Amino acid sequence: AQRTRIKDLLSAENSGDVTGPVNVKGWVKTVRSSGGVAFVQINDGSTLADLQVVVGADCPDYSLVNGLTTGCSVSADGVLQDSLGRGQKFEIVAASLELIGGADPEEYPLQKKRHTLEFLRELAHLRPRTNTFGAVARVRNAMAFGIHKFFQERGFLYIQTPIITASDAEGAGAMFRATTLDLNNLPLAEGLVDNDADFFGRPAFLTVSGQLEAEIFAQAMSDVYTFGPTFRAENSNTSRHLAEFWMVEPEVAFCDLDGLAQLAEDFLRNLFSHVLETCPEDLAFFNRFYDKELVQTLEDIANSDFERMTYTEAVAALQASGESFEYPVEWGADLQSEHERYLTERKVGRPVIVTDYPSSIKAFYMRLNDDGETVRALDVLVPRIGEIIGGSQREERLDVLQRRMAEAGLDDAPYWWYLDLRRYGTAPHAGFGLGFERTVQFATGMQNIRDIIAFPRTPRNAEF
Ligand code: ATP
Ligand code: MG
Ligand code: MG
Ligand code: MG
Repeated sequence: AQRTRIKDLLSAENSGDVTGPVNVKGWVKTVRSSGGVAFVQINDGSTLADLQVVVGADCPDYSLVNGLTTGCSVSADGVLQDSLGRGQKFEIVAASLELIGGADPEEYPLQKKRHTLEFLRELAHLRPRTNTFGAVARVRNAMAFGIHKFFQERGFLYIQTPIITASDAEGAGAMFRATTLDLNNLPLAEGLVDNDADFFGRPAFLTVSGQLEAEIFAQAMSDVYTFGPTFRAENSNTSRHLAEFWMVEPEVAFCDLDGLAQLAEDFLRNLFSHVLETCPEDLAFFNRFYDKELVQTLEDIANSDFERMTYTEAVAALQASGESFEYPVEWGADLQSEHERYLTERKVGRPVIVTDYPSSIKAFYMRLNDDGETVRALDVLVPRIGEIIGGSQREERLDVLQRRMAEAGLDDAPYWWYLDLRRYGTAPHAGFGLGFERTVQFATGMQNIRDIIAFPRTPRNAEF
């Protein structure tokens, strides 16, 4: 028989569709023997559930079971049947069994017991075999698909913006620089010197955001989004910052801040509904082991309106809270994670969209309000994490944009194309950036963003 994925097998059996012998392949989780029968739990990553393979003494390959240990890869042929044992509905009675690849139990680092997440971070190559990281990978996959589904169904165009760029986009954070290095000792192009040549003699960086380029497309195709890797030289060790993370950035023409807030809310509610629908087993697992209120929280978010408040109202609420925060709360200072968590967790108990931040703490391209002091920016804050979305209506007036750039000490010249968008057929437009890992972190109830991405890039962590 051809290999069937365990997930497909179980759902086919649930609907009574399995006929005849099947083949499964996967990695051994545990092996237990009693009275001449071996019970081998195998997992192939398609679903959280392990499949129990029963190997009786009458199976011609019964002698193999002694050599089966956690981590081995195996193939089993047999017939699926209702299981009498507790813990699973179905099992395979093996007609034949093959050991594909062994795993020396003296050396294999993953054991039956639960390992700490810190320990598993040292084993980036093996941790996808654990329940937790398998579940993270499946939820991450479902959410990536849900993101495309949402925007595609709304007629947005998926665009790709460059990873190597000369624009330092907004000063969103410290950047990594691209440098030229000749590892093969091949002659470099004329004029290039190892290490100080940057991008063929010009400065270039790894992108911190695709926004400015996405604006180009919004000013032609109206509704667009990017979904790609971004890089920030965040020299901080927090549980929600990475040096390499994925961002989803819609950019919409003829859209103001209210329209953007509505889009952000619809998007997140739709995304959490999608993950509730597509990953019930994995979410139940996270609910059981990581956050007892996870599923309830996600359902509440999917089903109720977000709170809206201005930055000025948020500051007033924080000042009136009587809490002693580590960072002072004063009008003009950016909100810190502790403030964002207070607003969502204590003040309103659901996601909050904070709008109209002081222009002094936001980027030059954000649309200035008539008060001359605040900009049409928004952050979407969620409990436990704080900010997951940052966005704004963009300044569409050429003269105001030029003035704001001058005030920010930016040279016009490299932005000639950005200014052209205001020079020719300018239109109000707005967009936001959603941190993908932070959003998956929220949806899984995991504490640390390092456990959301396969190869977390944080200070001093690039080799593995
Ligand atoms: P923070 O205040 O948390 O540092 P930010 O305001 O610097 O975030 P933005 O520039 O607004 O971030 O980026 C948009 C979104 O990208 C954020 O809302 C967040 O979800 C995500 N994000 C930003 N920096 C990081 C990072 N270093 N690692 C992971 N996600 C990030
Ligand atoms: Mg930041
Ligand atoms: Mg922020
Ligand atoms: Mg932000």
